Amino acid sequence: MTYNFVEFFTNLNYYAIIDAVIFIAVMAVMLLFFIYKRNVKVLLLLLIGAVLDIVINVLAEVAGGASLEIARYITHFVVVFDIVAACVVYQNDLKNIFQKVSSARNVELHNSNDELRASTLEILTACQNMAKQDVGAIIIIDSVGDIHENILDTGTRLDAVLSAPLLESIFNTKAPLHDGAVIVRGNRIIAAGCFLTLTQRNVNKEMGTRHRAAIGVTEETDVLSIVVSEETGIISVVKHGEIKRYMTMDKLNDEIELAYGISPNVVANRELQTKKKHKNRRFL
Ligand code: ATP
Ligand code: MG
Repeated sequence: MTYNFVEFFTNLNYYAIIDAVIFIAVMAVMLLFFIYKRNVKVLLLLLIGAVLDIVINVLAEVAGGASLEIARYITHFVVVFDIVAACVVYQNDLKNIFQKVSSARNVELHNSNDELRASTLEILTACQNMAKQDVGAIIIIDSVGDIHENILDTGTRLDAVLSAPLLESIFNTKAPLHDGAVIVRGNRIIAAGCFLTLTQRNVNKEMGTRHRAAIGVTEETDVLSIVVSEETGIISVVKHGEIKRYMTMDKLNDEIELAYGISPNVVANRELQTKKKHKNRRFL
């Protein structure tokens, strides 16, 4: 018996396939999103609504005519309500996704390694002095241009050469820009007094809004946050939502060099890669 492929393909409903592909793609994106957010319960709620809607619609089709009008209306309303509720619950994530899509990523830094090493020292000095004097600070090192313009606009644009005295003056409690975060790109302070989105996670009760803001900004961006606590003088750093407290000057130096891409390991690795590239080119 031979299978009639021609008949199979002519009878195939291409519109049904497009429908199925779109449905599967949307479900896959939603599944990945909720797994990433570690909240499968919301996904289940959405799925139950969607399945109910589909079942009622299929039953209505089978029954024909205008049957199950009220049930169709209600399940459709439930699905729309579920989607609006999920958008409200995850408004911060949606905002971050849209900001990422339109962000000025891959800002080119035109600083030499020496300039970045000098800036590292300036940040270290400022942090050490502020910690000693119990002055609170929050410094964001954004080497890849991940911080969106909207966040910069919540503060005051500066574009000034980074120095310890400038950082200390900004965070001086009597200065107008001390509230909020300083954003650093390379050897420049881009903005000060910026308002960051606070993390929604449960964090140690000792940590207030400054630490929550420092954690929040790293959850969706590839930046390093440095926090000096005004209450305890403890210096912490945060990367990808993970906070490390009780930084010594050596450890802080390593973290900043890593964020700037000038840590000895990173530099050695980069030089090795460039050498390899040149070597391969000679053989081509
Ligand atoms: P500390 O240990 O320094 O007391 P904390 O984590 O306990 O810090 P708060 O005492 O609440 O936090 O610190 C308040 C300060 O944190 C504000 O004056 C402001 O400068 C800063 N801050 C609060 N919210 C934000 C935010 N969303 N973005 C940036 N900075 C913020
Ligand atoms: Mg506090």
